[in-house]
Amino acid sequence: MNYRSLQAIKRDLKLGKVTCQALVSDYLTRIEKEKHLNAFLEVWGDEALAQAKGIDEKIQKGTAGKLAGMVIGIKDNLCYKGHKVTGSSKILEGFESLYNATVVERLIAEDAIIIGRCNCDEFAMGSSNEKSAYGKVLNPHDNKRVPGGSSGGSTAAVAANLCLAALGSDTGGSIRQPASFCGVVGMKPTYGKVSRYGLLAYASSFDQVGPLTNNIEDAALIVEVMAGKDEYDSTLSDKPIPDYSIEYKKVDTKKLRIAYLKDCVEHTGLDPEIRAHLEKTIDALKKQGHVVEPASFPLTDYAVPSYYVLTTAEASSNLSRYSGINYGYRSPNATDLESTYKKSRTEGFGTEVKRRIMLGTFVLSSGYFDAYYSKAQKVRRLFSEQTEAILKDYDLILLPSTPGPAFLFGQNDLDPVKMYLEDIFTVQANITGLPAISLPLGKHSNGMPFGVQLMGKRHDETTLFAFSDYLMNIPT
Ligand code: GLN
Repeated sequence: MNYRSLQAIKRDLKLGKVTCQALVSDYLTRIEKEKHLNAFLEVWGDEALAQAKGIDEKIQKGTAGKLAGMVIGIKDNLCYKGHKVTGSSKILEGFESLYNATVVERLIAEDAIIIGRCNCDEFAMGSSNEKSAYGKVLNPHDNKRVPGGSSGGSTAAVAANLCLAALGSDTGGSIRQPASFCGVVGMKPTYGKVSRYGLLAYASSFDQVGPLTNNIEDAALIVEVMAGKDEYDSTLSDKPIPDYSIEYKKVDTKKLRIAYLKDCVEHTGLDPEIRAHLEKTIDALKKQGHVVEPASFPLTDYAVPSYYVLTTAEASSNLSRYSGINYGYRSPNATDLESTYKKSRTEGFGTEVKRRIMLGTFVLSSGYFDAYYSKAQKVRRLFSEQTEAILKDYDLILLPSTPGPAFLFGQNDLDPVKMYLEDIFTVQANITGLPAISLPLGKHSNGMPFGVQLMGKRHDETTLFAFSDYLMNIPT
């Protein structure tokens, strides 16, 4: 079976050509065959089959939900009651969720089938999935290359057709960057659109959950199911949530005005083939009669430094809950309270997580607070003001997703700054909280896919989906 959209699955379910049980068995066979990718840390096969049986019955009765037929993987930082969740960290090894993340709850309520838990960088910190305590994930297009991160397992799973869709989380690009590297659609909703309840927190003012899919319609449907007010997350907007999967199809995309970020397209760090592809896309859009104009955004080079000051500060606070006392790993070598804290954290956390906790603690320390944290907050405000100013004149912003295609294992692993610079084009959407998507439109001469990124207006996912769908279908 090679279904790449829920629409195709629904059509065949209706015609009786396939059942949810057959679909799940098929995915399970492929997961087993592609085990070497290490995309799943755990597969809930029997449970998924049992759910499928129940949903097949609902389909017969005509009572099935919107997502009936959708088999989903979830990133290992989302709580699913009674199931393990570790943030791909040793410090949470064996820990079981006590409740459902709101997003998980809402997907299940619409009859999605959750097939397993996907590998990721430890606590979603990374751009290559090399930072998981449970081994790296391989890129399905070339096993010598990284799938991207931190949602590398979720993305590789969708790219290798091990599930129809997957959930990731995006704090600085962790959905869009791997989507670019693996050739799938990856979308980060507006900050405050999707509940973070039950998402292991990394940097709370940046984190959002979003979908990885093969097409826009599936992404829109998943966001419409997940989004909206939740009493457990006070940062959510109370704007009503449209049926994105229906509404985006009504948008007249011809009238949309597009800005492209000149400073990004001309950036010296950008792979020349990706630059050429973007220029071709811009020309193709102009030929179709669109207004596509350059906009200046000179702050791009400040994106990565301010992102890493702010997110490590938040991480140092969020991760203090892993103390060896309440839950998770407790060092057997500890002798008293203080050594319990120290040894549990020393032995439980990986190097990258420790680096960020220390960096975050440093930028928040009294002597350096003004020089780093407070300054980065001011830069954050400038980012929002200048990006919103562009979006006053234009409906969408076009920019690269990643500076290059998927890199080789080990290439950036020893140099954190090199690794952090991978996030240069994705963090703007998180710093500003705007919605953004990576579309699998490019193909590098080395055979690897790469993405094109669109950023939209706050809470206007409808236009973002509409133009994405249009872009996925125009010849360039
Ligand atoms: N690569 C970025 C980081 O390491 C993004 C991570 C994310 O979005 N979760 O922080």
